[in-house]
Amino acid sequence: MTLFRDLIHNLFYIITPVFLYYTFWSGSGLERHRKMSALIFFALGSASMLLSMMFPVEISGFKFDYRYLAVIFAMLYGSWILALALMLTQFVFRILMVGPHDVAFYLYFSVLVFIGFYLLSRHYQTFSVKKKMTSYAGLLAILCSLSAVFSSSRFADSRLEMLIYMGQFFLIYAGGSILLIYLVERLLDSQRMKADLRKSEQLRTVSELAASVAHEVRNPMTVARGFVQLIHSSPSLTDSERKYLQLTMSEIDRAQHIISDYLSLAKPKDSRLETISVSQALDQVRHTIQAYALMNNVSVFLDVPSGMKVRGDEKELMQVLLNLAKNGIEAMPDGGKLFLTASHAGEKVRMTISDTGTGMTKDEVRQLGEAYYTTKEKGTGLGLMVSFSIIRSWGGQIDVKSAPGKGTAFTIVLPAVRESAGLDQTVESEDVNRV
Ligand code: ADP
Ligand code: MG
Repeated sequence: MTLFRDLIHNLFYIITPVFLYYTFWSGSGLERHRKMSALIFFALGSASMLLSMMFPVEISGFKFDYRYLAVIFAMLYGSWILALALMLTQFVFRILMVGPHDVAFYLYFSVLVFIGFYLLSRHYQTFSVKKKMTSYAGLLAILCSLSAVFSSSRFADSRLEMLIYMGQFFLIYAGGSILLIYLVERLLDSQRMKADLRKSEQLRTVSELAASVAHEVRNPMTVARGFVQLIHSSPSLTDSERKYLQLTMSEIDRAQHIISDYLSLAKPKDSRLETISVSQALDQVRHTIQAYALMNNVSVFLDVPSGMKVRGDEKELMQVLLNLAKNGIEAMPDGGKLFLTASHAGEKVRMTISDTGTGMTKDEVRQLGEAYYTTKEKGTGLGLMVSFSIIRSWGGQIDVKSAPGKGTAFTIVLPAVRESAGLDQTVESEDVNRV
């Protein structure tokens, strides 16, 4: 029983500092002060080392503690300098607590740990969580084997005893570390998610504000321009007066142009037209909305022949497709089916996103794409507006077919990219019926 108690105590010594650091310091905004961060990391690491060394776990005559974990974690999640500082501190603790007894083995193992984890730390952050855990356990196994085979310690009388000791050491460390890695990764993950959320929330607020200002300003400007035009056509004006009015109108036009740009919102500044694979784009959409669909009890079906290509900005096309797919799912509060299909129609590509949801009346369809038109409590009424404007800017259109109670189909029609004519060639056509 004391074994379990001691193990749990030791786990507490290593988990608490990690928890304190990642919940209260890192992610609080203060972690930008790098020196302070390092100092706090160092202080918490030292405390955990000291406590762990003072209250070790005893298993069949051997004493174990988690003294190396602080060093290893400093190496993997901090820097090698931090790890070195903790290693030296640990050495001082060790000398003060046990004296020079058996110091050769201690130094041998410490150097091994330091070098081994230094090499791992150079690639560690690029790994997935699973790979982090397996590479960690693998390295630990190698280090333990090296120590068991090539060194001896005073407290192990024979090679066999040394092997047993290192085996137990490995199990205890692997268990504790895997738990710790998992915890740290989860905490970092939630921090990243929080930051992303904050960013997208800001973006949403800004673009909503921009759109609302643009929307409110546009109407009075149209009225003003109308009157200026009226005066401009009056015969009693002098030449210079007419010139001034002309200037006023062109300035109003320019301002309206800027406002239209604002209305296409989150449009990235570096938007570049490229050739996009339709099947890849729709497949990616399916992936992205899978969780959201599942949550709403919606099954997603994909039917797209390969080889279809259109020209546009990939990010913007994804934005449009996701908007439409999300609307489709939201129109099915009791679950249903969402179809993502694509087909060739002459020289055009048709991408259809259809649902078996509530549908809309003709009047409602007519209002689609207007700023702020939404029937949802938390809707913005901007999604379709932006989507329509993006597709229009590429010379395409979005058709809507809807029947109340049956469902809705949104079809994006874009010029197909002809394979044989080279990737940059798009097919022109006359009959564009825009929504
Ligand atoms: P939001 O989703 O924020 O409300 P949108 O511009 O995306 O804004 O959509 C505007 C409105 O159009 C929605 O509130 C909804 O009433 C209607 N709508 C859009 N897509 C569908 C659909 N697939 N089925 C039924 N109604 C839809
Ligand atoms: Mg929407």
